[in-house]
Amino acid sequence: MAFLDSFKRRRETNVAEVGNANTSTTNQIPKSVDLNQVPFHSAADWLGSTAQGVKPFKIITNPVSVGQSIKVPNYIPKTGKKVITKYNGRPLWLKEALMTDHISVTYATDNADYFAKVYTLDVLRLDMLENKANRMLREKIEIPGVCWPIDILNDDNGYFVGILVPASRGVQLTRSVFNGATGLSQFFPQWNKNDLCDLTMTILDKIRKMHDLGLLFGCINPASIYIADTKDVYFVDTDCWQIEGYPALSRNQTFTPPELLRDNKTQLIYTMDQENYQIGVLTFMLMMPGKFPYAKGRNANERDSIMDMSFPFSVGGGMRRSRDAERPSGIWRIVWDHLPYQMCDGFYNTFHANGKYAKPGCRLKTTDWLRMSKDFANTLITSNRTDSQSMFPRTFRHDGKRVFVRCNICGQEHPDYYFIHSIHVQQEKIDIWERGYRICLPCAGDQSNMSFKCECCGRTFYYTNRTKVLHEIGKSDFDFKKQRWCKDCKKRTIKCGHCGREVPIYQMREFEDRLRNLRTSVCGNCFKEMIEKSKQEKEAWKNSPARWVSCRNCGRSFSITNGEMEYFNRKGYNLPTRCPNCRKKRY
Ligand SMILES: [Zn+2]
Ligand SMILES: [Zn+2]
Ligand SMILES: [Zn+2]
Ligand SMILES: [Zn+2]
Ligand SMILES: [Zn+2]
Repeated sequence: MAFLDSFKRRRETNVAEVGNANTSTTNQIPKSVDLNQVPFHSAADWLGSTAQGVKPFKIITNPVSVGQSIKVPNYIPKTGKKVITKYNGRPLWLKEALMTDHISVTYATDNADYFAKVYTLDVLRLDMLENKANRMLREKIEIPGVCWPIDILNDDNGYFVGILVPASRGVQLTRSVFNGATGLSQFFPQWNKNDLCDLTMTILDKIRKMHDLGLLFGCINPASIYIADTKDVYFVDTDCWQIEGYPALSRNQTFTPPELLRDNKTQLIYTMDQENYQIGVLTFMLMMPGKFPYAKGRNANERDSIMDMSFPFSVGGGMRRSRDAERPSGIWRIVWDHLPYQMCDGFYNTFHANGKYAKPGCRLKTTDWLRMSKDFANTLITSNRTDSQSMFPRTFRHDGKRVFVRCNICGQEHPDYYFIHSIHVQQEKIDIWERGYRICLPCAGDQSNMSFKCECCGRTFYYTNRTKVLHEIGKSDFDFKKQRWCKDCKKRTIKCGHCGREVPIYQMREFEDRLRNLRTSVCGNCFKEMIEKSKQEKEAWKNSPARWVSCRNCGRSFSITNGEMEYFNRKGYNLPTRCPNCRKKRY
């Protein structure tokens, strides 16, 4: 089903903040009539539920078949145009566009309580969205904040163009909580862990109610969750959910269960178990604001990290971390440390390759995560531990067992295991803790006050505190050479003026040929060769005759070599006038 590729959700573009929906008007739109402030009835009032019992939607494993639409609209209504609600029978004027994605544009309308979601022509050529909307409209779903469709929207010719949905407010989860400290300080600067628990419970409670009705996200799109407050949350784009045999219309790798990535097939219909895995990821990324559960490793490959389930956090003593997963340093270890044991245990066993909830079919359910969040919230309220209530605590929990030590650099107290204890200098492990260094792990990677100037590019570089120690220790115990070239310059290459090979710039030497008065930039190898060669040349030159002279005694001609000339000149002697033989006889 290649058509689904077109549904792959690109990053949702916000044309305007949803909260500002009713603040501006366009001139061409007629002043809203009072009639249009009257609420719309749900189409389900006319259609009535076809489902029996409490679960109106069935969990279905086969996708519906998709055909061409019989009636495709000639044009797609835009801002300033009118759409008609099919069952309520009233017109609605489209105001400014609020959100755009790959299949639709959501508009504010002249009724502040409703948005109009209008599909693109491409997807309207298929009958799936209209069929899906009709299926959804037969049920009245009344979960607060779940923006369930209310009516069909037609154009002037009575052709299907979109759906009427309740208005929503707030900021996307992706831009706020999932954007970590940045997003939180921008949108909810006053929040603490209690608020985060409240938000998590609000979200999980809606999901629990969805699941009770047989509704699945299929593939969670966190950009479709809008946060106005901890208890005021909106699930928009419900038409993108997996509804019975209608597949979810968004895909994202972050939430995809490992087994699906390993199989490497596009799966249209997700199982409840696969949904449960995604709820686990969602809960993790809420409680560890925005943190992706797995360690992406050196090449930062998200896909591999999910397939390997390289979960970097550990619980208690006995559990080992995943293969290749680097131990997280910095803030995430601390945030993790402040989560309750039960929740850490749940996350660990969900995301660690050998965890007891990690295998398909064994996963924790929304109700489990909801219970853990409630317990955490209760603990936070009853305890007087203010550090655990902070969104990003400054250090680990003071549990009475840990020894806390003050960092020499930042002055913060941390448990002793949160310090660098040793460094490697030329393959030798040096215990710097013993030597009195108290440098906490975050400080180890921070910039120190020690710098060097690159001999090649002339820029100044500051060492990290860890490297600074390396140099300090190196000075006293080892012949540690101060750095001469920066990383960039070590990477830059240049052509050797002699052999023509590309060599790192810092290995280049300046060769001075005094005989010919030439200077050449050459590589290290060539430099050695040329020095050797020039020595030989010099030797040959020294032994070769500089001039011929007739002996004052015997009249035979003899030579004075270049070497001798140099020697006599240097000593300030006169040049010899007798041949070597006569000189020998004389003395
Ligand atoms: Zn520190
Ligand atoms: Zn340079
Ligand atoms: Zn440089
Ligand atoms: Zn060379
Ligand atoms: Zn002579």
